[in-house]
Amino acid sequence: GPAMVRPVLVLGDITTQSVDAVVNAANTSLRPGGGVDGAITRAAGPEALADRERVIAEHGTPPLPTGEAVATIAGDLDARWIIHTAGPVYPGSARDADLLASCHRSVLRVADELGAGTVAFPAISTGIFGYPVEAAAPIAIAAVREADTAVEEVRFVLFSEHHLEVFREALDAPRRPVH
Ligand code: ADP
Repeated sequence: GPAMVRPVLVLGDITTQSVDAVVNAANTSLRPGGGVDGAITRAAGPEALADRERVIAEHGTPPLPTGEAVATIAGDLDARWIIHTAGPVYPGSARDADLLASCHRSVLRVADELGAGTVAFPAISTGIFGYPVEAAAPIAIAAVREADTAVEEVRFVLFSEHHLEVFREALDAPRRPVH
């Protein structure tokens, strides 16, 4: 299969990244929210928002089930696509970890369909959705590493020094199987 992805970690604002696809930590309604979603929505502008409305109109209820992913155009971002995924609201159920891993796998599957070679992820679910970053980071890192994908660069764009540190520890830790 394809080479394994070794994620790159950076401290910064995901809305200023130059990549093929920017990942949005959306909610299941796909309606613009706060946090990284608000920042991406503002930076991407009206054309990207209109494309999002199109997806909402075309999809069922909810437009974006937890753990799944869907792409829109990226508007004014320095990217070609936004790949929206809805993470689990923590604490939800025993499936939280699998749903969070599923977000990462679904995003990479959509990226492969689009032919996106570089993908920037935020720390999905670790803001308003309450997933402790210490628990979320190893899941996110393992899901990306174990994904069967043609994506060449996965960049986690972390918004705080603490998030960066926790993701760094997860990346450097001896690998354990995901359950
Ligand atoms: P969720 O609802 O999935 O928890 P949030 O947007 O509340 O989504 O938070 C997800 C992560 O994105 C948090 O770690 C938050 O600090 C971070 N974040 C917020 N704004 C930005 C940004 N502009 N760039 C990168 N990460 C961001």
